[in-house]
Amino acid sequence: MRTPTTHPWGDPFWSCPIAVTPHPLTDGLHVDVAIVGAGFTGLATAHYVQQLCPGQHVAVFDAHQVGHGASGRTGGLILEDTAVGPLPGVGDCIATLCELVHSQGIQCALRVRGCWEIGRHNIQPTSPIRWDDHGTLAVVYNIPGGAFDPRQYLAGLASLIEQAGGQIFEHAPVTDLHFDTSSSVRLTVADKTVTATRVVFGTNPWCLPLLGLHQQAEGIHTVAVATEPLDDAVFEAIGWGTRTPFYTLDLPYLWGRVTADNCAVIGAGTTGLGAVDAAHISAPDAVALHDSLAYRIRHLHPALRDVRITHRWMGPLCRTHDSKPLLTSLDDTQRVLIATGYRGHGVALSARVGKLLAEVIAGYGALPAWSARPRLNIA
Ligand SMILES: Cc1cc2nc3c(=O)[nH]c(=O)nc-3n(C[C@H](O)[C@H](O)[C@H](O)COP(=O)(O)OP(=O)(O)OC[C@H]3O[C@@H](n4cnc5c(N)ncnc54)[C@H](O)[C@@H]3O)c2cc1C
Repeated sequence: MRTPTTHPWGDPFWSCPIAVTPHPLTDGLHVDVAIVGAGFTGLATAHYVQQLCPGQHVAVFDAHQVGHGASGRTGGLILEDTAVGPLPGVGDCIATLCELVHSQGIQCALRVRGCWEIGRHNIQPTSPIRWDDHGTLAVVYNIPGGAFDPRQYLAGLASLIEQAGGQIFEHAPVTDLHFDTSSSVRLTVADKTVTATRVVFGTNPWCLPLLGLHQQAEGIHTVAVATEPLDDAVFEAIGWGTRTPFYTLDLPYLWGRVTADNCAVIGAGTTGLGAVDAAHISAPDAVALHDSLAYRIRHLHPALRDVRITHRWMGPLCRTHDSKPLLTSLDDTQRVLIATGYRGHGVALSARVGKLLAEVIAGYGALPAWSARPRLNIA
């Protein structure tokens, strides 16, 4: 029987409340730094700007709520580098995320004890797992990595930003932007005008047309499920006693991790549902993906045959044509900065990117040369 859901994309496993102080948005508001998007990227950037540029007025605008996008729906695997591996300027992602969490005392069940790259070829003879999924899945490499509770992390970041004097405006969609002749950028936010000296877009697959990036990147959805809590005996039987997060090196893709209360969160596959906002968990291809994922989980090992799936959800990814992140600016003076295109590899990367963007705003960081800058097409 399917669990009833309240969100068109299904309800993710993560449920930590995120308290944000409501503010009326006044027409004509001016801020030093406007951040568009309250996911990992936007909130990490806001936090680092507050650290590196104390005294600057930072405001975050989200069309919905904090964590509405991928960040509130992610698997929460903490991985190094980018979807295409190491790239100059965005290394040390795990260390950056850990330093942020530990130095600020964010309670988010962070565990960084390694990750398995698993696959059907070149498997380690000593692999603790032998799972049945289009061949035998076993550990190929042990790599750095970990996992956390993404909503607890978002809640911690939001609280830090507010404590440092920043404002977070929810239900505040940015629908237009213009470069003023003065040095500021004019945004239309919930039909009001906001001006800012610098603007950062951390809007994942959203706003690509507004930013003139729809030729360079596209939005898709990916799916995930959570199981009921599993007994220690089940983890031992399937060889997952260490509860090490994993992802496959080969296809079909599968990733997974265990939550603090012993539920397995496992995901795989992308939908071809077109417009991100039009996607629905009950659409035939989303249903087929979820059913296939549930079947694969129940057939990984006999001990999982009757496992109950308690949550099914989907969430948006942004992919570029070369799978590299898009870290760029709309203009030569870097008044409008953009960070998107992480694919399914944005948890730790977004912390590193937030720090990089804040360094650019503070005047001593540089956007990476490998990320193409779009032509300015905004008046
Ligand atoms: C199911 C799933 C599992 C994943 N698992 C992993 C994983 O295990 N490890 C990993 O590294 N990565 C994973 N990812 C990817 C990772 O979660 C994302 O890369 C990351 O969360 C992106 O964060 P973000 O802040 O850039 O974007 P988002 O979290 O998507 O935030 C964008 C925000 O912008 C807001 N917005 C949009 N348009 C506007 C507008 N016009 N005005 C104002 N606000 C706007 C949205 O409401 C949203 O809150 C996963 C993604 C999904 C969907």
